[in-house]
Amino acid sequence: MLRPDHFQVRYVINPWMEGNVNRAKQVSAVRQWDKLRVILSGLGEVKLITPQPGWPDMVFTANAGLALGSTAIISHFAHTQRQGEEPFFEKWFGDNGYTLHKLPPHLFFEGAGDALFDSDGARLWAAYGFRTSLETHSHLAKIFNVETVSLRLVDPRFYHLDTCFCPLPGGYLLYYPQALDISSNDTIDRLVPSDRRIHLGEIDAINFAANCVVVDKTIALHKASSTLKERLASAGFGLIETDLGEFMKAGGAAKCLTLRLDETVNTKRMSACQVTTREVEVEGQLIDSSLMGSICDLIVSDGGSFMVKDLRLGQKRNEPSIAKIEVTSPTGESLDHLVQKIIRLGARLPAGEEKDAICEGANQDGVAPEKFVATTIYPMQVRILGEWITVDNQRMDGVIVIEKRTARCSLIRDLKRGDQVVIGGEGTRLVRRPDERGAGRRFGFMASTISSERKVELAIERVAWEMNRIRERRGRLVVVAGPVVAHTGGAPSLAWMIRERYVSALLGGNAIAVHDIESAMFGTSLGVDLHSGRPATGGHRNHLAAINRIRGAGSIARAVGKGDLTSGLFFELVKQNIPFSLAGSIRDDGPLPETEMDLIRAQEDYARLIKGADMILMLSTMLHSIGTGNMTPAGVKLVCVDINPAVVTKLADRGSLESVGIVTDVGLFLSILRQRLFVSLR
Ligand code: NAD
Repeated sequence: MLRPDHFQVRYVINPWMEGNVNRAKQVSAVRQWDKLRVILSGLGEVKLITPQPGWPDMVFTANAGLALGSTAIISHFAHTQRQGEEPFFEKWFGDNGYTLHKLPPHLFFEGAGDALFDSDGARLWAAYGFRTSLETHSHLAKIFNVETVSLRLVDPRFYHLDTCFCPLPGGYLLYYPQALDISSNDTIDRLVPSDRRIHLGEIDAINFAANCVVVDKTIALHKASSTLKERLASAGFGLIETDLGEFMKAGGAAKCLTLRLDETVNTKRMSACQVTTREVEVEGQLIDSSLMGSICDLIVSDGGSFMVKDLRLGQKRNEPSIAKIEVTSPTGESLDHLVQKIIRLGARLPAGEEKDAICEGANQDGVAPEKFVATTIYPMQVRILGEWITVDNQRMDGVIVIEKRTARCSLIRDLKRGDQVVIGGEGTRLVRRPDERGAGRRFGFMASTISSERKVELAIERVAWEMNRIRERRGRLVVVAGPVVAHTGGAPSLAWMIRERYVSALLGGNAIAVHDIESAMFGTSLGVDLHSGRPATGGHRNHLAAINRIRGAGSIARAVGKGDLTSGLFFELVKQNIPFSLAGSIRDDGPLPETEMDLIRAQEDYARLIKGADMILMLSTMLHSIGTGNMTPAGVKLVCVDINPAVVTKLADRGSLESVGIVTDVGLFLSILRQRLFVSLR
């Protein structure tokens, strides 16, 4: 232990310190510490280290290092605020005859704060997540020749393992499960029988009941609830409570204030640690595309750890950067899963480590093997007989089927029994284009992603420019439109674009056709006069009358042929022989004869019409826009126009770098777009 002569909360490196800077009462702290020392002296021998001015947290000697027998590993603190304590602790261990070990300098290790031996000395529980690096665990296992089990801390209030976890004699474990992630809890459940697991409730956890000093069957701690006291008593433990409130202000209690030097040396212990490391490489516009950030975030959120071994930044805008990343995970299995996810983001295994994709035959029509690889909007390749083959028909939410030396994307429902489906992720990779950048160099206005107010006009101008280029090179522009296009008076502008051959196909629901045809036949949309904006007399039946007339004719095309439909979007589509697809929904009136009420067929029809699209204009329909977005591969420019920013964000966020949202009234959008296109046509 170390007398708290210089103890004070001087900085904030954990949530307990927040609001407590300079608020610890020195006299009370000394009194509380002394009481603990007297209690512990009654249970064993207490050795003291000399306090050092300027290191206010040095009183928490649990973090000095970790000792077993005459071997000690010296700590290397994660925060600079505590690193100055290291030489004093090192000197103490040296002076007291310990054989010292230091871990590689790039790794952090906070001693017995994050590494706790079982009472029989057979196992070491080691934590990571806030302070100690996961990579240290395999070193601990080797140095102490002990089975080391990794646990991940997830609640910043319990930033060290000893704040929420305490192995007790007799194989008992006192801990707060919520402070650890799910897989750590699974590990504990596997290793500790249920009748030995003593769960702390939140109140006991935040009173640091787990931060206790255990000597034989006596537990010294800050505070315990009556329930906990009873539970511990039934397991044969006696409790001594002693107020340590001043130290709680800095985030420590009984255990933090002590370092145990007489851990049981189990002669039968054996070195074992499942922590596994593997290298991945990533190349491309790592910074501009924020790929590097995404990979690092994924590793951490998945419970892994990383070390960038080599980062070569491209010197010019077009030059790719290359990085080698060492990825570490608590087990080999969790590492495999993690690496597959990183590969799906765009990383690759180093040359020589790549393997062919693994397939498993579907054993039922329309059902994929359990471990299928799910596709995204980004182009993928699979490795077949040593060669990387690009997957055909790329779309999101599909699986990959390999046939001889080809690979294609398939929906699960389209699988046939025996189809060889890629599983596991080994031998698959994402193909990123060399010019891929967050700022969307190829499609300038996408830098801002969502344009509103003043930016709208500029965005429309760029859309018009792109539409003209697509038209000139006879590319494909597909429009997805909701009925609001008709309600807002946008239909004539869109009809003009169809007439001028800007549009290659139109997708929508029953409603866009119903309301367009209603306005063409009766001058109303949902009964509202489109010129005056007032409800037309008897207008409430107009949409039904429109549906009725089309049904009478047999189809929209026949109604045009008969002269029943003489203007509007659908008139122009029929006249120009431009394909359209209407997908049914439960809201539909009628429906119109063309509306496809079999949704699988409707999806297939949509997929057929968007094939080869250069750009998709999504106009005020959440349902059909998202439906279309889901089947569109990366590389297609998506423009989503909606008055609701949430809808626009949802579409713009789906991962395509080339999607842009424009928050505005769709009628206004179409009218300005028409003007811009018109000017350029002249
Ligand atoms: P939706 O909710 O999917 O989309 C409507 C979108 O329009 C919303 O995102 C909304 O924010 C946006 N919007 C509203 N006013 C706008 C404006 N002035 N400018 C720009 N955006 C605006 O609904 P939906 O696509 O209209 O309909 C969903 C389904 O219901 C479709 O399949 C449709 O065909 C069907 N439906 C059928 C009928 C009918 O048969 N009579 C009527 C309505 C809807």
